[in-house]
Amino acid sequence: MERQGNISISSENMMPIIKKWLYSEKDIFLREIVANASDAITKLKKLISMGDAKDEGAFRITVTTDEKAHTLTVEDNGIGMTEEEVEKYITRIAFSGAADFLEKYEKAGGDGIIGHFGLGFYSAYMVSERIEIFTKSYEEGAPAVHWESDGESTYTIGDCEKQGRGTRIVMHLAKDEKEFSKESTVRGLLQKYCSFMPYEIFLNPKGTEEDKPVNTPVPLYCKQPKDCTEEEYKTFYRETFNDYNEPLFWIHLNMEYPFRLKGILYFPKVRKKVELERGQVKLYCNQVYVADNIKEVIPEFLMLLNGVIDCPDIPLNVSRSFLQNDKQVQKIASHIVKKVADKLNELYKNDREKYESCWPDLATFVKFGAIKDEAFYKKISPIIIYKNLAGEYRPLESYFGEEPKEEDKEKAEPQTAYYVSDVDKQAQYISMFKEAGLDAILCDTYIDPHFISYIEYKNPYRVRFMRIDADVAGAIKEDAGEDAEIAAVFEDLLKERGVKVKTERLKNATVPAIINVSEFLRRMSEMNSFYDIGQSPEDMTLVVNTACEGVQALKTAEEEARKTAAEYIYLLALMNYRPLKPEELEKFTSVSSLLLGKYLKTL
Ligand code: ADP
Repeated sequence: MERQGNISISSENMMPIIKKWLYSEKDIFLREIVANASDAITKLKKLISMGDAKDEGAFRITVTTDEKAHTLTVEDNGIGMTEEEVEKYITRIAFSGAADFLEKYEKAGGDGIIGHFGLGFYSAYMVSERIEIFTKSYEEGAPAVHWESDGESTYTIGDCEKQGRGTRIVMHLAKDEKEFSKESTVRGLLQKYCSFMPYEIFLNPKGTEEDKPVNTPVPLYCKQPKDCTEEEYKTFYRETFNDYNEPLFWIHLNMEYPFRLKGILYFPKVRKKVELERGQVKLYCNQVYVADNIKEVIPEFLMLLNGVIDCPDIPLNVSRSFLQNDKQVQKIASHIVKKVADKLNELYKNDREKYESCWPDLATFVKFGAIKDEAFYKKISPIIIYKNLAGEYRPLESYFGEEPKEEDKEKAEPQTAYYVSDVDKQAQYISMFKEAGLDAILCDTYIDPHFISYIEYKNPYRVRFMRIDADVAGAIKEDAGEDAEIAAVFEDLLKERGVKVKTERLKNATVPAIINVSEFLRRMSEMNSFYDIGQSPEDMTLVVNTACEGVQALKTAEEEARKTAAEYIYLLALMNYRPLKPEELEKFTSVSSLLLGKYLKTL
């Protein structure tokens, strides 16, 4: 006997709002319905384990699409419901759950309810004009129940025929939602939301041996790390992230206390900036997919990684702003950060060779993380490495001085660490450094300028970075006073071009002059062009090498030749610093040919 009832909560107003808000993500309804089916099986298994229900084995969820009838059906062989339970859980709770959801959503000011959990069964009305439930409770002799409603105001309920315990939900799709009766659409959604659900899910099974579940009921991350092989980790990576590059290495998280957390984080190869935006950390809750890249749970810099994280303890049916302030969530986030830092330290200590070979891919991530996260910086600071001029990796901290005592800080001079930002452009400076037995580090990734500024800011008394062309390092010059006569020649030539002049006696006598550019001003101008404020003028100093024979010869040369030679020396130094501008190149050509003519005549 069928009977009718009115849905007690006013739901007429609910639908349009829920529909509107969830419009872009309406496919989550399938996750909700399949998750309910999975829960129903878990509940039944629990009863079986307590001896309160008979074990009939082979738990499964079956999803069926029917393009002709425009239906989508999800069936489980779980706990099932009696008539009273359908009344209570579906008519009252599911509908009031939706009302609750709406209230929370409005309170949260619409900043997004993370998992949309709690919307549950009702969400299927986003795509259905009518839903039928056929269900039979596990209880001995319980009659099967049929329930049906359009989700708006009324429902009918009564007995029906159904073999076997469990629940079948038949969604009669709304006119515009027919795509959900397509097998390919539904397969895609099951792969997205249900890949790791704990019971086998079959889509349109034929009842033959060939039927394969669409999901992996025991995903790798749920196993104990000691039971997983390297090959399994790689396969899991490939299948989950569709990345055919091998990951560099991975971290398997598995803890029960003080909170439950499982997952695998993979370090992908990332060299270019564009690739940095490709990371994907998928968040799951009890093997049910929630969302990608939830930055409240997974610190932003870790989003460069690929991974899956399963956290049953995260309150997912709350708003994001609430999550930000949640102590538990903060603990989870800092635990993840700590694990990542530990893994890197372990690799550094136990397998330096591998660490160094992975470093070009890791460096950006580590530096970015250090800037973003103080706790992470503290843990990984000693294992940040840079290549030196000999091409060997050394820890950055080995270039630092000692931290001075409190009372000495005022007059402390931080150690100068020289760096190269472009091996080709700074070749002349590098060779002078090498000759003098000086070292410099190679800072040539796009994040390095920011990173060294950050390191200076964190260690103001221990280190200061200078680009190799910023000044004449002590070891490459000899003590000699200013040569005023030589200086005057170049000052005359360059005063109108805004270039300063200095003389030094360099150990390398073959280089007539070099250009230095103040570190501070250069960084300022780099910053300006980074933020598009415009280029500031170059602040250059020409350092003329009085040890060079050609430079000394200027003193005895006649006026005209001296000017030409000085111009030539300046342009030579300039081109070792940066590419010449068109007018400079023109001048260089004419001066060179003039000198060449004169020189050949003397032979
Ligand atoms: P939630 O799952 O968040 O509790 P739902 O609206 O999805 O909310 O479902 C309400 C209730 O209906 C569930 O808690 C459960 O008791 C019952 N239910 C839903 N689907 C099933 C099912 N397939 N089998 C048994 N019970 C179900």
